[in-house]
Amino acid sequence: MQGLLCLTLLATPVPLMSSDEPPPAALRSDTARFVAVNVEFTLLHEMGHLLIAELGLPVLGREEDAADQLGFISLFLSSGRQRDAGFYAKLLDVADYWRLEWQRPKPASEEVYVWGSHGLDAQRFYNLACLIYGSDPDRLEWVPKVTGLPVERALYCDQEYAQVRKALAWVELQHGRRPGEADGHVIRVVYEPTSLRSGQYLLEQLRRSGEVEAIARRASETYRLPRDLVLRLANCGAPDAWYSRTGAELVLCYERLEHFQTLAAQLPDLRQAKAPARCALCASP
Ligand SMILES: [Zn+2]
Repeated sequence: MQGLLCLTLLATPVPLMSSDEPPPAALRSDTARFVAVNVEFTLLHEMGHLLIAELGLPVLGREEDAADQLGFISLFLSSGRQRDAGFYAKLLDVADYWRLEWQRPKPASEEVYVWGSHGLDAQRFYNLACLIYGSDPDRLEWVPKVTGLPVERALYCDQEYAQVRKALAWVELQHGRRPGEADGHVIRVVYEPTSLRSGQYLLEQLRRSGEVEAIARRASETYRLPRDLVLRLANCGAPDAWYSRTGAELVLCYERLEHFQTLAAQLPDLRQAKAPARCALCASP
């Protein structure tokens, strides 16, 4: 099937895109924005695991990929119709987090191995870049350009985005709360005391934003959860996050905020550097 489509493409000139320049705000580095949106994506990724387990969702393929897809589409749709430069800046921050992880030298204990349950950092970066581009290819020709998403992948990203959007619609249809339905189970947010140093300010900002509570509330109001659950923020000794079925909770470690802050400092260099691979669709002069 792919071969057939490729032949069709070779015979058809690639249409001239009208939007091959990124909005300047999308490439501007902003530490607070980078930390906030990556906290949000982390929570929504873990919420993906939570929904898979609590609602008994069928999963074809790797659960970690499904959780990334659920996280992405939830983040994407949470902004409503406001698809401005700030919106795309946030999506790019999420993809670029994985590009930074990909390029970060790691100790063996943090290495992602090919036999592991997670995709490689580079794969998660390209998967997210593909979903961003695929959400509106005609308007987002700059996305392959700045991310280096190769044409071989970019060609099918609209289909990948449509698959993910369809999957979420199915989940909402099967497991969504009906209008007027009696109050159901909720996800309660708990902030443990923290011993953060440099991340204390970030945590205060996060609490003030109400972002964590909004994510918990949205999930509680959207889905018919089978039991009450907890979203816990705590010190764990590592920049981690997880969902625990036995503990009936989703945990975000405070250390992850500091980790995002550290990586955000490398963002300007990353974006000034050449894209990781050449994008054949983007024949810029
Ligand atoms: Zn995961």
